[in-house]
Amino acid sequence: MALASWIDLIMCFILFLLFVYVVATVTITNLHKVYLGFHFSMLIWPYSQFAIRTVNDPVYQLFYVKLAFVDASVLVLGWIFFTILLSGQSQFLHKKVLLALFIPALLSSAGVILNPNGWFVRPVNGGYVERIYGPIFWVNMAILIAHAIVSLYIVRTALVSDQAQRIKNQILYILRGIVAVCAFLLIDVLLNVVLDDYLPVIPGFTSLGIVVSATFFVITIHKDKVFDIVTIAHQDIINTMEYGILVLDDQERVVEINRALLPQVRLASGQRFEMAHYLPDGEKLKTEAFLQTYRNHPLEVAEIELLYPTLQMYVSIHAAPIMVGGSRVGRIVIFQNITELRRLIEETAQQNAILQERNTALIKIQEELFQTNAKLRKLAVTDSLTGCYNRHYLMQRLEEELLQDRNSPASSTIILIDIDYFKTVNDRYGHLAGDEVICRTVEVLQRCLRSSDILARYGGEEFIIYLPDTDEAQALSLAGQLKLSVEHNSIHIDYLNEPVSITISMGLLSIYEFKIPPGMDATTYLNNLFKAADQALYAAKHQGRNQIVAGRV
Ligand code: GH3
Ligand code: MG
Ligand code: MG
Repeated sequence: MALASWIDLIMCFILFLLFVYVVATVTITNLHKVYLGFHFSMLIWPYSQFAIRTVNDPVYQLFYVKLAFVDASVLVLGWIFFTILLSGQSQFLHKKVLLALFIPALLSSAGVILNPNGWFVRPVNGGYVERIYGPIFWVNMAILIAHAIVSLYIVRTALVSDQAQRIKNQILYILRGIVAVCAFLLIDVLLNVVLDDYLPVIPGFTSLGIVVSATFFVITIHKDKVFDIVTIAHQDIINTMEYGILVLDDQERVVEINRALLPQVRLASGQRFEMAHYLPDGEKLKTEAFLQTYRNHPLEVAEIELLYPTLQMYVSIHAAPIMVGGSRVGRIVIFQNITELRRLIEETAQQNAILQERNTALIKIQEELFQTNAKLRKLAVTDSLTGCYNRHYLMQRLEEELLQDRNSPASSTIILIDIDYFKTVNDRYGHLAGDEVICRTVEVLQRCLRSSDILARYGGEEFIIYLPDTDEAQALSLAGQLKLSVEHNSIHIDYLNEPVSITISMGLLSIYEFKIPPGMDATTYLNNLFKAADQALYAAKHQGRNQIVAGRV
């Protein structure tokens, strides 16, 4: 036979190889690639059948018979791969499994192509429109049937696995495809091969089976958007999410359940979902409020957080309407396990409470420290016996006054006080009574003074009063009051039979300009003032006591 006769076929073959190259190298999913190969091989069978009958040359007839049967092997293999990919059963894509599928197909195809001694097919009446099949044909048939059984096995494992309902629906369509093509193939073999001697050849059975099976594929591809990458991606995302996702139609029938939720609810597509069945018994008020919103206000979002005691789980349920063009077409219900989240929140709340407690304790300690400090500060400036200021404080205050360096200083006065004949008091009534007398006297003095005046114990039974902004006349008047008050104050002491009365002598010193003279320090200046006051006091004693003497600086 001339090579020229084959030239177009060779070109056709090259075109096919180019097609395979393009399909294999572009970035589409394996599912797309396998389907293209598979569909292409479906196409070759009926074409070969047509060619066998329409060409007259037995050489071409034989070529098309061989092409048809090699194609049948490719078709069934493509079928298996498409089923594997569509059902996501990648565990079958093992080297061993692939070899076990490929090698028999390859060997039987080799047998078909070589047709040694006419063991595959022999002509009838010098042509192959009617033909006699040999043992290689039957081996080929057996392999095809074995492959069909493998397909059924894959379908079965997909149906009993945890696949989403959508995938299971697709697999059911494939199953129908397998059944259709097998049925038509068996009828074809029965009528046109086994009963060949008794019946005329009826063409087209297997082709019809292939068309029916391809129709099932096309239905599932369109219905479930099998080749829509966005849909596949969405589906993958939904199925890999930890949340349970349930899509319902407007009649509360299940449209979709994702993989996380399926083991918990065990509902199939089309079944009615009854929310109340999936809520735990406890927390009646809460669940009723939720169900009320869920049932009566489907356009609103209904939310609830519940403890499922049997699952030892906190679950958040969130139901929201799915709106299309302003009307509700269904709803999406999301179940989220929030046990860990709750635990973290509770832990944080506990830590917060502990911190709050510690904070309160710290604030209390701080307050106590503050009070203790205040007490200590007071103690540092207070005379322990009388409770009035001590000498140290007075000196400090006076130094501060001097340092203030007022521009127009007014007169200030200091009065040095000494109790008269105090030794006698001690001698007559005892030292304790003497202490009491000192205290009472301080009380009397304090009562006569203004708030701005400062009374301090100078030592023993001696006191100093600082009268700021007070000139000599005012100071003398105040001193007179002090003297009289003390004189008239009879002191009653529990264990004494008689009241005690004392008098005081005062050395008074009014300073017209209470200001450190240039070239002098505050301590020296104050000591000079005290010395002058002491001299005045001495004079008062000398004049017979219970006297006030104004000194001069
Ligand atoms: P005069 O001042 O009038 O000259 O006579 P006086 O007896 O008061 O003499 P002086 O002021 O020199 O003596 C003070 C006495 O006061 C000496 C001491 O025993 C007594 N005295 C000093 N401090 C205290 C004290 O804190 N408590 C008691 N009970 N007595 C004290
Ligand atoms: Mg004295
Ligand atoms: Mg005295």
